[in-house]
Amino acid sequence: MKAFTEFSLSEPMQRAIQALGFEEATPIQEQTITLGLQGHDVIGQAPTGTGKTAAFGIPLIERAKENRGTTQALVVTPTRELAIQVSEELNKLAQFCRISSLPVYGGQDIVRQIRALKKHPEIIVGTPGRLLDHVRRRTLRLGTLTAVVLDEADEMLNMGFIEDITAILRETPTDRQTMLFSATIPRPIEELAQKFMRDPQLIRVAPKQVTAANTDQFFVEVPEHKKFDILCNLLDMHGPASAIVFGRTKRRAAELCEALNTRGYSADALHGDLTQPQRDSVMKQFRSGAIEILTATDVAARGLDISDVTHVYNFDVPQDPESYVHRIGRTGRAGRTGTAISFVTSRELSQIRLIERLTRRAIKRLPMPTITEALVGQQQATVERIQNAVGEDRLNNEYRPIAEELLDQTDSITIVAAALRLLTKEPNKTPVTITAERPQRAKGTGPKARKGFGARSSGKRSAYGNKGRRG
Ligand code: ADP
Ligand code: MG
Repeated sequence: MKAFTEFSLSEPMQRAIQALGFEEATPIQEQTITLGLQGHDVIGQAPTGTGKTAAFGIPLIERAKENRGTTQALVVTPTRELAIQVSEELNKLAQFCRISSLPVYGGQDIVRQIRALKKHPEIIVGTPGRLLDHVRRRTLRLGTLTAVVLDEADEMLNMGFIEDITAILRETPTDRQTMLFSATIPRPIEELAQKFMRDPQLIRVAPKQVTAANTDQFFVEVPEHKKFDILCNLLDMHGPASAIVFGRTKRRAAELCEALNTRGYSADALHGDLTQPQRDSVMKQFRSGAIEILTATDVAARGLDISDVTHVYNFDVPQDPESYVHRIGRTGRAGRTGTAISFVTSRELSQIRLIERLTRRAIKRLPMPTITEALVGQQQATVERIQNAVGEDRLNNEYRPIAEELLDQTDSITIVAAALRLLTKEPNKTPVTITAERPQRAKGTGPKARKGFGARSSGKRSAYGNKGRRG
């Protein structure tokens, strides 16, 4: 895995990547960004959710800076949701670069679009039909383009857009850079590439075959603001010997760790900012049992041999199915069974279905645990501790006389109940702050558009056969 700092990117781009919370490049990004920056034609084949937008977006933005104020790049996407989503991601990546991206799609007021096009946004992201419409009206001129991206090419093929795309490409300068991204490369796409691309580099990231070995998988549907209380209830119920709580960002992992400690759990955070000695120390304490809970991001946990975990809690649904499998692979090793519980908001439910399909294992719905259940869990843990202590030799000499004395004054049930209460770590609801995370890509597309993995839009097609609605 390559850190973004290892690419030769401008400072404003590095800052934007950091603001997005990306730590390392995904495999497709690692292999295509440099080629894209150098102006090569690229065919990127990778499953859904692997970060293809930034893979082409970063080079497009970096190259567009040379000629601000002219339209230089065109991204063609199959659906309007995708056009919006991709354009938003590009704008985020370009937020410090004074480069702007405009989505152009059918169904939107054409007069308004024409006005926006007159400002010559550096990057235009659109659906084939509407783009062609503008080309024919002469409200969009493609003669200044230096780059064209065909995003989700296989999907555009399925939707019968090949002719429109061909017509668009014919309007663009022949010395343009062309990048084509697709989860699969069917024959007609290959032909299109042969016809319109110059010596394209084929970068292929294969979908990984995954298993979820001995892990019982559950999910809890829970609104964002209740996640932390529900996490505490579950921890109280399960009393895990060693657990990892995964959050989406470094900040999230840090806040979770602090909040857990405030509520009386022993937690420490693993995140990208730790030095190697700090990481080693955290890991040593976790392995020795001095720390019961680790909070972590995917990146921080990657490559670390944390294997004896009994419980994995996905406080945030992972970015992609592979991360999910990596996360839950931390538990259920060496023939033992582990438990993995993922928190999903109602809008993220479809992601669970997709993971199920991918891992070919059921993920069972768990009702939201109540505070009463949490208390019962902790009481049970106390009972077990007491039962374990019953066999100890020291009891007879050092504790029995006091017990006999106590029993002269109070009945045995009351005494045992009092001891249970004192020994039980009762659910603690000290207020804590966990900054609400904006669900990924929620912006602008609306709840209906958010379907499939990575909270992607309905227009998005998954490599694993999840057919979305079309926009
Ligand atoms: P694809 O086009 O391959 O389906 P996307 O480009 O839509 O995938 O990216 C999926 C999600 O992953 C998005 O929410 C995006 O912001 C996020 N993402 C992309 N690259 C990275 C990265 N390097 N690190 C973390 N998250 C990333
Ligand atoms: Mg994409």
